[in-house]
Amino acid sequence: MPSLCNALAALRGFPIVRGMKAHALSLLTLLALTISSSAQGKLRVSSFSTILTEVAQQVGGDRVVVTGHVKPGVDPHEYEPKPADLKAVGEAQVILLSAKHMEGYVGKLKESTGTKGAVIEVGDGFASLKMKAENDPNKIVEDPHWWHSITNMRKAVKVVRDALIAKSPADTALFTDNAAKYLAKLDALEKWAKTELAKLPRDQRKLVTSHDAFQYFAKENGFTIYAIEGLSSADQPSSKKVADIIATIKAQGVKAIFPEKIENPKVLKEITKESGAKLGGELHADGLGEGEAATYEGMYRHNVETIVKALQ
Ligand SMILES: [Zn+2]
Repeated sequence: MPSLCNALAALRGFPIVRGMKAHALSLLTLLALTISSSAQGKLRVSSFSTILTEVAQQVGGDRVVVTGHVKPGVDPHEYEPKPADLKAVGEAQVILLSAKHMEGYVGKLKESTGTKGAVIEVGDGFASLKMKAENDPNKIVEDPHWWHSITNMRKAVKVVRDALIAKSPADTALFTDNAAKYLAKLDALEKWAKTELAKLPRDQRKLVTSHDAFQYFAKENGFTIYAIEGLSSADQPSSKKVADIIATIKAQGVKAIFPEKIENPKVLKEITKESGAKLGGELHADGLGEGEAATYEGMYRHNVETIVKALQ
């Protein structure tokens, strides 16, 4: 601890302290106690969304310790909490969830929450779009990918800010200030995105994708989504289905498609060959990842740039 050494070295210069080794020792103990109690004074936050982990870190600053349970690049749809996660949840004051049924294990988390913990289901306060369930296309569920809307992100920042303030009212000014800074960044990002997307005429704003992750993005930015089902499962899609996809792409004059989790490369090749559409590159659908996708802003910029480049 260099700061302690510096403090003691400075004190040695004072005549009253000079030669008082016993006092220096007790001073050291006192300083150490102060430092450890200030670490304990931080709010413990458990986050099950890579997006909300960033929001909590930005808004909470050095007054919070955030544990991101779902790591960047991990599929949040497939995630299951381990005993160590549940233990951390038991010690956390604030537990952040994407909600809208993203965390099928929410019951387990609520059981593990200690008496001082608040489970904040962030996305539940936002208007829902609907999608077909990934494991059962006959079932309609809430679309959990709300963070692709910057409007929703602004709401999420305020929800997280208020949750932190509720647990640490003494830090109200800091959390409010940090949230305002993050909100200003989102405003700038939105302004940039609108300028970029303006390069695409309205009739070219068509997203053909195999994973219904971009409905909130589409709604906010005037895109229509055409889902290509059957490419994300190991089952071979029927030739009728493939023909339907090709017909849709042709009829809509779509220039590029954005498939994910491709299990059927042969079928995909057939679709691009027959329809004339090219592959549009990879979009970040399910949260933060590595490199440029390590921040919300980087992720969002990548998606906008990839879409504009492919459809222009
Ligand atoms: Zn998803």
